[in-house]
Amino acid sequence: MPERPKNVVVLGSTGSIGRSTVEVISGSCGGLRAYALSAHGNTQVLLEQAKKLRPRHIIVTDSRAAAHQDWSELPPGVNLLIGAEAIADVVASPEVGIVVSAVVGSAGLHGTWAALAAGKTVALANKESLVIGGALITQLARNHGAAILPVDSEHSAVFQALQAGRADEVHRVILTASGGPFRTFSREQLESVTVAEALEHPTWDMGRKITIDSATLMNKALEIIEARWLFDLRPDQIGVVIHPQSIVHSLVEFIDGSVIAQMSVPDMKLPIQYALSWPERKQGLVQRLNWEQAMRLDFEPPDFERFSALRLGLEVAEAGGTAGAVLNAANEAAVEAFLGGALAFRDIVPLVHDVLKHHDFDPNPTLDQLLAADRWARQEALRWVSA
Ligand code: MG
Repeated sequence: MPERPKNVVVLGSTGSIGRSTVEVISGSCGGLRAYALSAHGNTQVLLEQAKKLRPRHIIVTDSRAAAHQDWSELPPGVNLLIGAEAIADVVASPEVGIVVSAVVGSAGLHGTWAALAAGKTVALANKESLVIGGALITQLARNHGAAILPVDSEHSAVFQALQAGRADEVHRVILTASGGPFRTFSREQLESVTVAEALEHPTWDMGRKITIDSATLMNKALEIIEARWLFDLRPDQIGVVIHPQSIVHSLVEFIDGSVIAQMSVPDMKLPIQYALSWPERKQGLVQRLNWEQAMRLDFEPPDFERFSALRLGLEVAEAGGTAGAVLNAANEAAVEAFLGGALAFRDIVPLVHDVLKHHDFDPNPTLDQLLAADRWARQEALRWVSA
């Protein structure tokens, strides 16, 4: 007897991860069904996705964008909802099997929170949810018996490798980093990097924000914090290794010295599919590694001097409290300023460092206090830019 399809909600379906998730659902041979899709302002892509997948609901969180879109081609039976408030109701529906949290940035926290509060399994692509509110989010998941499954490729790799042993047998995890487009740049060369150069990622095709974060290695800093919460690790159990080919997606070192790695071609559809089909594996949609061809894998230690964001990641993972919210918000503001031509590449990480240094640290913040720290850090970052 064919199993019933799993109903999927995709929050942020028009972004890079969202579009890949739509491909995974389309390629699932009926195993997965889009129950709802949400987008902020990219209503044209959302409409095309709705025509293809025929979800029960689509949600547009930007009401102005919704008002400007011609919805006459929306298939009958697809319910259009407007405003972020609709998310909590939709994810809580008893029909929903899993929620993919794929909104970019701190805006994704709301959806992650709503899904976990409804006791739903969350396939988490929005690493900011854990960077900002790791302690509260993991507590919320425990309180509601909700699972958080990683979609981030490194964390999916760790999640898969962890299945080779028990939690108390883990010595440490090692996150791989491609090193980004400036891996071999000297300090002097890093001084004059342009937006176009920073948007040229050597191995992964991603959205603009995360591509810049990969160039500064701030993305790896965020992933250190994400790993700390996702796998309940001490920060000293998290290492980073530069691996330019992006074939090994991360590694787990066990107490006996065995290291288990997960490998594949770099394609986000694989970790998305694994999260959506877990605990099973399904026929892959992704190109396989070619073992008939010579292949070379390089690993080198990261340079904490040229890429000081890594140090910030370890410090914030250790500090907890409001530090993650401040790091993330300051970085979001800095990246936006860089993309807008108002900030030099070399100043992104120093800006984040300064904002972190000046913030009024609270070790046990509430959600409201985290959101307040986020707002404060954005204002501070803007002040830094205009100073
Ligand atoms: Mg990643």
